Amino acid sequence: MDQQELERYFRSLDRSFFVENDMKKYSYLDAPLPIGFGQTISQPSLVLEMTRLLAPEKDSKVLEIGTGSGFQTAILAKISDKVYTVERIEELMEKAKKRLEAFDYSNIYFKVGDGSLGWEEYAPYDRIMVTAAAGVLPEELVNQLATGGRMIIPIGPPGSQELKLVTKIDDGDIITKTVEMVRFVELKGQYGWEE
Ligand code: SAM
Repeated sequence: MDQQELERYFRSLDRSFFVENDMKKYSYLDAPLPIGFGQTISQPSLVLEMTRLLAPEKDSKVLEIGTGSGFQTAILAKISDKVYTVERIEELMEKAKKRLEAFDYSNIYFKVGDGSLGWEEYAPYDRIMVTAAAGVLPEELVNQLATGGRMIIPIGPPGSQELKLVTKIDDGDIITKTVEMVRFVELKGQYGWEE
């Protein structure tokens, strides 16, 4: 991953474009903000850190779970080959899609549904970025991670979770490292929390 390209693009991206009018004035703060439906856009420093940890390459196929505002999606689309993004709340997905149309990306594929199941049709993925917290590591996401691939996911109870970096090694085993404590909204669904 080209760190300079990532940082340049990150700095050029206007976060106020990804939030509703009443939140625009707060969009320059390094803080999570509400995006409706009880969901949030993460603080910019965490988005950047998670992207660095994910470390997608130019030819990476990336699965993103939790499209939310589309802010993280825009960054992933800029630095990877293809981004498959799944959001369970249709209204959020529609808004994110509209915003992302303004960027002229032709490498983003959208799905409304339960992302705790991944997106099997296009698996395996070189990178998986999960931006909502699961109680345990969703088995299906591990299955859909390519050998040599990396996944970033918050794991733990509502209110406080460990941010995990999961790497799949040659024999299909995984290595899991804890990066830091974070606070994300819940990953709902079959391999997440109850709806
Ligand atoms: N990355 C987003 C951004 O840049 O705005 C923020 C994502 S927000 C913290 C988490 C998102 O995950 C919410 O939009 C929520 O609806 C979504 N979500 C929760 N459970 C999900 C599931 N099972 N499948 C897909 N999306 C889910």
